[in-house]
Amino acid sequence: MPIYEYVCTECKNRFEVSATLAEKEKGLKPDCPRCGSKNTVRFFGGLNFISRSGGGGFNMGSGCGPGCGCS
Ligand SMILES: [Zn+2]
Repeated sequence: MPIYEYVCTECKNRFEVSATLAEKEKGLKPDCPRCGSKNTVRFFGGLNFISRSGGGGFNMGSGCGPGCGCS
């Protein structure tokens, strides 16, 4: 089962979620295990976009490439 990395936009907590491909295709939206927020976004390793968040400043389009599984 693949592991997906998510980050909470509320408390900046980073966590991993294991889900089947079918579950992910249905639109996986895990809750933050720390604060319970549903404002979680997929985290792409190597990108430093977390630090410049101000609420909604996430650029989900960048960082996608071969093997990232988002297309
Ligand atoms: Zn949180």
